[in-house]
Amino acid sequence: MMASFGQITWIAMLESAAYCVVLGAILFAGLRSHQVRAVLYSGLVVLFSIFWFASFGQLYLKQVHVTSFPLTLFIPVFLSLALDYRLVAALAPVQSVLIFNYAQQYSATLGAESSTGFESVSIVYAVLSGIMFTLVAILAWVRQHTDDELIRALNEKERLASTDSLTGLMNRRAFMDSLSTFCAAKSTFAVAFLDLDRFKPLNDQFGHAAGDAVLREISNRLQQVPGVRAAARLGGDELAVALDANLSSAELDKAVANLHSCLTRDVEWDGKTLSVGVSVGYATNARDAQSLPTLLKAADTAMRRAKAQQTGWASFSVDVDGAALDTHSSEIEFRSALSRGDLRAAIQPIANAETLEIVGYEILSRWTQCGLRQTPEPNEFIPMAERLGLLNDLLWMTLDETLRSGDVIPHRLAVNISPAQLQAPDFVDCFMNVLKARAVDPAFITLEITEQVAYRNIESNVEMLEKARRAGMTIALDDFGTGYSSLSMLDRLPLDKVKIDKSFSQRSGSSDRSDSILHASIRLAKQLHLTCCVEGIETEEAARKVQLFGADEIQGYWIGRPMLLTDTRVAFKRAS
Ligand code: C2E
Ligand code: CA
Ligand code: CA
Repeated sequence: MMASFGQITWIAMLESAAYCVVLGAILFAGLRSHQVRAVLYSGLVVLFSIFWFASFGQLYLKQVHVTSFPLTLFIPVFLSLALDYRLVAALAPVQSVLIFNYAQQYSATLGAESSTGFESVSIVYAVLSGIMFTLVAILAWVRQHTDDELIRALNEKERLASTDSLTGLMNRRAFMDSLSTFCAAKSTFAVAFLDLDRFKPLNDQFGHAAGDAVLREISNRLQQVPGVRAAARLGGDELAVALDANLSSAELDKAVANLHSCLTRDVEWDGKTLSVGVSVGYATNARDAQSLPTLLKAADTAMRRAKAQQTGWASFSVDVDGAALDTHSSEIEFRSALSRGDLRAAIQPIANAETLEIVGYEILSRWTQCGLRQTPEPNEFIPMAERLGLLNDLLWMTLDETLRSGDVIPHRLAVNISPAQLQAPDFVDCFMNVLKARAVDPAFITLEITEQVAYRNIESNVEMLEKARRAGMTIALDDFGTGYSSLSMLDRLPLDKVKIDKSFSQRSGSSDRSDSILHASIRLAKQLHLTCCVEGIETEEAARKVQLFGADEIQGYWIGRPMLLTDTRVAFKRAS
């Protein structure tokens, strides 16, 4: 049996074994690296194995043919292009030996006379194979080297994009990504919001280098606090950490108190002792919030309370912070709604009291889409926009949207102006620019103000109103009769028109006194040569009455409800 296998079989088996060892090494290397590479390596191993076993099968069956040589030589070379250069280099001598042996076996099958000179051909094949593998190894080295450089550059770019350059902490984006990962892993964690106290005065007194040093030192300490899973600088002097929260409330309080005391130690800088404080607020994902943005807002709200009450740190409590969180959420939501264009202009018609012909429109803002539980009404979001200093942005947006639609000109347009808006020194100039951009004559514009413009900064407000009048606009006193000193306003403010508040027209008819007050108010406006408009006209009867009392204009649901600009064409046609 053994004899019939002869020398060829033993050598072939040894070679196969040697090759298998090399292939095993390749597989091992592949499995240790990236998954994709492992798959690739495994595929190559299978191909090599099939190829070599087929070749040695041919030897065993003595079916070796000279046409197999190019295959023997080239296929492994091409396949090895995808391998690690060290493996290709290791394969080079193995492949040369195998090629030499293969040629030898081939010559043995040819018989003595035909195999003459085949010795030298075997050597040439073996050397050629060695050279080719070496070249491939060099190529693989070059490719791998460039790949490594590229990967290093990409990693560095990724690191820079996710790191705050001053402190080396994560930036906001990377922090949010980590929190999302914790959420995906369903782990319980707490987010603590940190804000440095007295940071601005410190910067002003010692300069920005001192401020930077403090931020760096606090960040270093932050990373060393036990239980911190991720730490980030969110911007300015705002930092945040994610803490392990598999603790009882009392233990968590203790951990945050510890974090606070670690951070509030003085910082030595340039021979000086800098004293900084930190306010910390925290909330946990399991107890306080369902979503990440709400969790962060909850921690932020608790931090604000800690800062206001100077308690150093505070944990979020729905009972104490719930209302503040709602306001805070609405403010954040309002900002993004404004930039998304979800605040839109609605217009309500104003009609001539005699002919009922539409003479103008009042622009009223509407919040159309909102992620909050309830979409806020103008009476809720207008004061918010005022607090945030965004009323003018809202005005330019709604005004431009109205002018762009083109449906409302050549009618008069009334806009509501809060006292705070008149405080911007360039208010009238900006207004004129918006009108100019749409080629609209300022004579079409009425500014509706309330008597609140006289409560504070009356001189500058009156000056601004007079400037608007000089530019061609008209001024109306809105909600007449609801304030404390409506009558004196008629004298103190530069006015062209009075809008009698809807409460008067709605009370009218309930008693003779109410009718008398409404009648007297209209007469007073007329005597002062002011145009008189009555608001809140909901019925034909109310319209007839104020017409008899001498009103010039009427406004209310009976004439038309406020409509988003897109809905107006159909609705107002029906009304008129
Ligand atoms: P306003 O200037 O007195 O506007 C009239 C309000 O009365 C509007 O409420 C309007 O929808 C409502 N209304 C109109 N006709 C009738 C009626 O026949 N019956 C009744 N019951 N109500 C009627 P809205 O739109 O909720 O606005 C409330 C207030 O918010 C406005 O009072 C105005 O002071 C302020 N506002 C609205 N949009 C803006 C804005 O873009 N900027 C500023 N600064 N204030 C705005
Ligand atoms: Ca108004
Ligand atoms: Ca009004």
